[in-house]
Amino acid sequence: MTIDRRDLLKCVPAGLGAVSNAKTLSAQQDVAQFNWAGNVRYGTNRLLNIESVEQLQEFVQKQNGLKALGSRHCFSLISDNVHQLISLRSMNRILDIDETEKTVSVEAGITYSKLGPELDRQGYALHNLASLPHISVAGSIATATHGSGSKNGNLASAVAEIELVTADGELHTLSRKKDADGFLGAVVHLGALGIVTRVKLDIQPTFRISEYWYHGMKKENLYENFSQIMNSAYSVSVFSDFKRGFTKEHWPSIRLKVHEEAGFEAKPELFGARLASTISEKSKKADQSTRNTSGAWWERLPHFTIDGVAAKGNELQTEYFVAIEHATDAIKAVATLADRIQPLLYASELRTVAADRLWMSMCYEQLSLAIHFTWKSDKEAVFNLLPEIEKRLAPFEPRPHWGKLFFMGSKTLENRYDRLADFRQLVDRYDPESKFRNSFLRNKIGI
Ligand SMILES: Cc1cc2nc3c(=O)[nH]c(=O)nc-3n(C[C@H](O)[C@H](O)[C@H](O)COP(=O)(O)OP(=O)(O)OC[C@H]3O[C@@H](n4cnc5c(N)ncnc54)[C@H](O)[C@@H]3O)c2cc1C
Repeated sequence: MTIDRRDLLKCVPAGLGAVSNAKTLSAQQDVAQFNWAGNVRYGTNRLLNIESVEQLQEFVQKQNGLKALGSRHCFSLISDNVHQLISLRSMNRILDIDETEKTVSVEAGITYSKLGPELDRQGYALHNLASLPHISVAGSIATATHGSGSKNGNLASAVAEIELVTADGELHTLSRKKDADGFLGAVVHLGALGIVTRVKLDIQPTFRISEYWYHGMKKENLYENFSQIMNSAYSVSVFSDFKRGFTKEHWPSIRLKVHEEAGFEAKPELFGARLASTISEKSKKADQSTRNTSGAWWERLPHFTIDGVAAKGNELQTEYFVAIEHATDAIKAVATLADRIQPLLYASELRTVAADRLWMSMCYEQLSLAIHFTWKSDKEAVFNLLPEIEKRLAPFEPRPHWGKLFFMGSKTLENRYDRLADFRQLVDRYDPESKFRNSFLRNKIGI
């Protein structure tokens, strides 16, 4: 197996590999465009800020190729395009809250950090959030972005309706109620079907989350009681620096996020791990680890506070999903590479995500364990290691996070996604002229 050099070469560090751009449209920016982590320099500088659906329809019709950027937090080349980029960041309003249907309709460019507090003020909540709230709704559902909790589906599972402008400039609405199959194919859209303009999301009455940190669980205790630990709260994260977690005796920490209505009683021990009672100043600044305290769902479900993350990142990420029955075997298989993983790693996190029916979701029809890696920004070393990790995980048929770095290509992914052929047909139907395709979709989806 060889590394996909095309991916490696396209992911250049900031400042290298200038992309020429002779023409710019009026009102377009002509500065180099990078993703948040700086590991992807997009294939064009042409970026147009879209302000209305009508403007978008007219613009899409005239383009040969284009791609929407969300908040640019993906690490993979999924958002890349050599012709034209557009942003819907100005289309970020809450349009309607339907109290009977229990849904909120939003413009696609809104971020969860804007939506969360506003929903809460009106007495509502989403079921879950990712570790980072700054990501856009359209960009997050595109990649099946997720939080944690064995009973919580990913963020795309909350979508009740999606509206998009397709290659011909037409506006289409697909809803869970009316368009069963097509809808299930379109929600985790990978940016391939068109430009998403509006999304309707399920909501519920607002709630509060209490957090509890436990330290120093013995490795054997984690393996033996894995399901019980992962099911012990609304949202559970097991953190590790891999080396300690996988090859030494203890796991560093386990973070429980408890729905306050669940009547949870925090015991001083969790399978031998101790309940933390102190807050380190460092972690207080870096994230919201105000331990054993509570807050609104939108403050506590993410790991980062709204003002707690840098505008630019200095890290890379990878994440693999395996069916829950393989969870501990998969962790142990990755652990065999601990000596190679650890020097490149900032942190690792294990989360569970409920099964859903969305064709291109990593959790399609399986309750999953997500094994996450936050890497140091050493692209070449990370790209060299990924095929090895994938080889060790192969018996468990891992599905990689679409928005993070991975190696496997469309041939392997065909066997991991039962509905991939149907998704390709859906893309052909909505985008017959290949306006929204890019190298990522060619290499990973085979379209
Ligand atoms: C610090 C950090 C923490 C993270 N934590 C998590 C986590 O907890 N869980 C998790 O699952 N992921 C996590 N991620 C990954 C990331 O948030 C997701 O992969 C997400 O997809 C990024 O959304 P975005 O708005 O930045 O989209 P972008 O990266 O800008 O785009 C993603 C895709 O969506 C498409 N797109 C965006 N807007 C539109 C639109 N309007 N119409 C059509 N297509 C569109 C793009 O073309 C692209 O294909 C994290 C990332 C970072 C940097």
